[in-house]
Amino acid sequence: MNCREFEAHLGPYVDGELGVTETLTADTHRAECSRCANLARREHEFRQLLRHQPREAAPAEFRARLVTRLRREGRRSALRPWLVAPALAVAAALVIALVLPGLRPSSPLIGELVDKHIAYAQVERPAEFASGNRGEVEEWFIQRAGLRVIVPDYSPSGIRLVGARLADTHERKVAYLLYEKGTTLLSVFVIPLPGKDADLRGTRVAYRGHDYLTHEWKGYRTVSWSEGQAVFGLVSMLEYEALLECADRLRVERSSRTRL
Ligand SMILES: [Zn+2]
Repeated sequence: MNCREFEAHLGPYVDGELGVTETLTADTHRAECSRCANLARREHEFRQLLRHQPREAAPAEFRARLVTRLRREGRRSALRPWLVAPALAVAAALVIALVLPGLRPSSPLIGELVDKHIAYAQVERPAEFASGNRGEVEEWFIQRAGLRVIVPDYSPSGIRLVGARLADTHERKVAYLLYEKGTTLLSVFVIPLPGKDADLRGTRVAYRGHDYLTHEWKGYRTVSWSEGQAVFGLVSMLEYEALLECADRLRVERSSRTRL
């Protein structure tokens, strides 16, 4: 097993879902490769964090992570001065997220997606499968969970694909795509066959002939809709206009590929 293969099996390995032979070869690689040993340790810690994350992250811990994140962004900004403004915007929005009282999200599902987005934003390496290649990410979902996920291309808007992750929501697998615009994260969630749990609520907004629900929660903007047999959700601090544009592009890409 090489580093690339190890990385592709990281999630199931950490979860103990690999077969005996695969687990042994992964163990062997991990023992020989400090980089992958680190990856496995961090992934394990992250999963613990997700599992134990309360509805509101403990303020002290959250603040500590925020400071780390800002320092990191400060360093990045020093290298790339034009990123200073977005970094500050993220800081402001995170602070707002910290002090907002616990109102209620529009629906439990949206609340959960925002919580996941917050958890991902706190870790150094939020993607389980890190790749900027759309084809690779689509293939990973098929191999990992038998899910056919369309990974939209947002690069014309300066939104870069970072990677993917599988998450659980209401005991269902959720495909999660992670993008970055500067230092601002964008999560795209795809929930196949959501059933009636996925009652989406929010402010109805029409954009390019389609209806979406928008909702702001803990300082994050969300855009959600259901189409075919899936529910889609976007979570970010980006402006609604950018999120709706991303939603529309995902829809266009899906319909053009379904027709092929
Ligand atoms: Zn390795």
